[in-house]
Amino acid sequence: MRAFRLPGRLVSLMLLANILPAAAHDLSGDPAGTNYDRSAKPPTNILVNFSFAAANATNHGAAMATLFQPFAPKVQTHWDDRFFYIESDGMPAHPLMVGITAWQQQVPLPQTYTGNNAWQLPLQPQVAVQPISAKTHFFRGAIAIAVNGVPIFNPIKNDGITDTYLAGELDNYGGHSGRADDYHYHIAPLHLQKYVGSNNPVAFALDGYPIYGLTEPDGAPASGLDEFNGHTTPELGYHYHATKTYPYLNGGFHGVVTERGGQVDPQPRAQPLRPATYPLPGATITGFKAEPDGISYTLTYEIGGEKAMVHYLKNAGAVDFDFTDTSGRTVTRHYATGFHDGGRDENPPPRDRPEGNRPPRDPNRQPWLKVHAKEMDANRDGTLTREEFIAEVNRVFAAYDQNQDGKLTADEYGGPPVRSPMGGYIKQHYRELLDETGVITKASLMKEAMRMFDKSDLNHDGKLTPDETALPPGYKATPPGNPGENPPPR
Ligand SMILES: [Zn+2]
Ligand SMILES: [Zn+2]
Repeated sequence: MRAFRLPGRLVSLMLLANILPAAAHDLSGDPAGTNYDRSAKPPTNILVNFSFAAANATNHGAAMATLFQPFAPKVQTHWDDRFFYIESDGMPAHPLMVGITAWQQQVPLPQTYTGNNAWQLPLQPQVAVQPISAKTHFFRGAIAIAVNGVPIFNPIKNDGITDTYLAGELDNYGGHSGRADDYHYHIAPLHLQKYVGSNNPVAFALDGYPIYGLTEPDGAPASGLDEFNGHTTPELGYHYHATKTYPYLNGGFHGVVTERGGQVDPQPRAQPLRPATYPLPGATITGFKAEPDGISYTLTYEIGGEKAMVHYLKNAGAVDFDFTDTSGRTVTRHYATGFHDGGRDENPPPRDRPEGNRPPRDPNRQPWLKVHAKEMDANRDGTLTREEFIAEVNRVFAAYDQNQDGKLTADEYGGPPVRSPMGGYIKQHYRELLDETGVITKASLMKEAMRMFDKSDLNHDGKLTPDETALPPGYKATPPGNPGENPPPR
């Protein structure tokens, strides 16, 4: 079946899109068109209603493929007797990241969800004997895949509590970038109805059942949904629906899936190219642009009304970053091919590797205090004394502590940044500094500061001399707002 054009319908869709108001975190994305990249992928076909009940075993694959067709050639599909495969780079055509108010400093990087690392769906979903809820399972990895090749994760993030949408972690299209700089949605991408029609699924749960929009294909309300947002109708058989509140999409799996390591298995892996980053309190993402060169991107954000940006380029498995802070200063970082985050999924390197073969230690992984000692050396004599450091901790604490009650609450440590190394340290490491009641006390900050000091003060004379704070050759200054140092151990 060939795609065919219906210009009249197309025009009316675009007109409709242009009169709808833009609203931050509207579930339907940003339909006003002001920052939607229409050049990337205009709809080329209007699809017939997709129905699992009507599709028989021989045309399932072909029927599913028509839903992904509007996003070809960026998104490719194929199928065999058992599975339907989806290949993509996980980068949608719309402006990513804009609207995020709780940012982890991750950015979208193209992924290689191809070949053995493609997404797969069972061609014939099987009803599970024991359906599994996503309220208590699957906090890692994807639970669904959108028809534009972007994975969809559990709306609840891996702490098992936080609703990413309500927490401000998602952009105007319901997505953000994860720890591997992998873009994904956390709610149903209803904005894709522009491409597939409101009578068709916008995604598939990884058990193979389709996820429709807020209504049935004929516009009637979806009624009698089960706890997973699914139900059975004569026309469509079992299917899920999107909702405007939790669970937003399939809240579990009516069909058979395999759970391994807290996620649906198998599923593709995203490839991290740098260590995972930290939250940047107070930042709001205001812009994202894929540059015409096809390999670089610019993300702009604001903190306290001041602009900052990240420009980055991915080429042949390496990535270069230019971080420009609110004062206009730019710092660059390069991450080469072969980076491993050393995280839970990686095998540790063998311990008995001969010295000569060992890759050089990354000179940029240096203790925070060593990196910033000079800046806190108040009398500029080259030595940071314990007294100078304590004075700096006291000064910065007082600057954040607006009501001077001796503790920093979220609105204080998340408020306007104190522009100093210790000011930045508190912003980046606030989570490790919080006590059981969720505040940073002067005592907990001082305790951590003194622990760092004593660790660097090798001869325990109460001062950090130049030999104790010397940085190795090859060390590059770290970009503001991006931690390159070792976070303090717990
Ligand atoms: Zn996420
Ligand atoms: Zn329905």
